[in-house]
Amino acid sequence: MSFNLGSWTRQAIGCAVFAATLGLPQISAGAPEPASTDAVPALKLKGKLRVAGKEVPPGTHKRLTWTSGMELEGLTAPMPIIVVNGSGPGPVLCLTAAVHGDELNGIEIVRRVMSNLDPQEIKGAVIGVPIVNLQGFYRGSRYLPDRRDLNRHFPGNTRGSAATRLAYSFFNEVITHCSALVDLHTGSLDRSNLAQLRADLRLPQIAKLSQGFGSTVVLHSVGEHGSLRRAATDAGIPAVTFEMGEPMRVQPEHVEHGVKAIETLLYSLGMSSQRRYWGDTESVYYSSKWVRVDHGGILFSEVALGERVSEGELLGIISDPMTEEQHRVYAPMSGRVLGMALNQMVLPGFAAYRLGAEGKDAKFTSASGESRDDEVGAEEDTRSD
Ligand SMILES: [Zn+2]
Repeated sequence: MSFNLGSWTRQAIGCAVFAATLGLPQISAGAPEPASTDAVPALKLKGKLRVAGKEVPPGTHKRLTWTSGMELEGLTAPMPIIVVNGSGPGPVLCLTAAVHGDELNGIEIVRRVMSNLDPQEIKGAVIGVPIVNLQGFYRGSRYLPDRRDLNRHFPGNTRGSAATRLAYSFFNEVITHCSALVDLHTGSLDRSNLAQLRADLRLPQIAKLSQGFGSTVVLHSVGEHGSLRRAATDAGIPAVTFEMGEPMRVQPEHVEHGVKAIETLLYSLGMSSQRRYWGDTESVYYSSKWVRVDHGGILFSEVALGERVSEGELLGIISDPMTEEQHRVYAPMSGRVLGMALNQMVLPGFAAYRLGAEGKDAKFTSASGESRDDEVGAEEDTRSD
């Protein structure tokens, strides 16, 4: 196979399951079959479900609330948690959204998925938390009131900052009940993401989970330290981030894709008998790269999210409104536009396009072989999950 899988695959040498999983460069499309449990360990089955101090019996749908118990002003607001406990055995799938309070697409996706579920019909249970960072949500902000990014403080502890304590409480009250987790996000401010899963494909359970979403792009990434996805994975709960669109708005096309993909996952996990149908296949990307601009000015993009570009192709033009000079931004490699900045004023060094490497171009990746979510500094907030 032509992908340079980098050092992370070498760590996995000897893991036949993993090799088999990665042997599939494309996610199966069309009508997905329920995921086979061959070789990959099955997800943990639900037991007695007691969430946020309340028991949820099989065959019921409950709307609960959770509070962090902290007395800091504004941090005691109750967070809604929806639990649909199916009548049959199966895993507990958790759906979380708005860990970044300004990311709205996921909120609507969780709401729709949960309201479509019938506890008599499903096997296992689904726990939906539409707004994890309620304080950020009320203020239209990615962050907590103290400007901390909640998604850098999981799994938290009881002694640190407010973010760390909040993370700890949420992780222990809710996340520890999950057999698997889908954490919904969008691009960060003034950037948009193609609908895509971020998944640590080194881990067979996660690689398999990521194949269950129908035609959805998958980008390998290990995940930031402190992120909910990474903390859940480290705690033995297979987790993926599901990115789509941009913050501060609800985008119907992304919401529809997200709902359909999660309903497909429920079918793939054997939790629902409702099959969803997809058209074209989607690709798995083992690495990606942000393209930075070298000039300041107003960015006008010539490409769209999801477009495939060749090396040397024009991505956008930066127009300097003072001098009327124009600077062209070209693709340094062939690839797919997985994320991009909206047209806006940019400074030199601004990360404008995230290209996913395909085929032989996957080789450009750094020695670690990871998708470098982290190449761009935190202050610039191109990291989205
Ligand atoms: Zn986010």
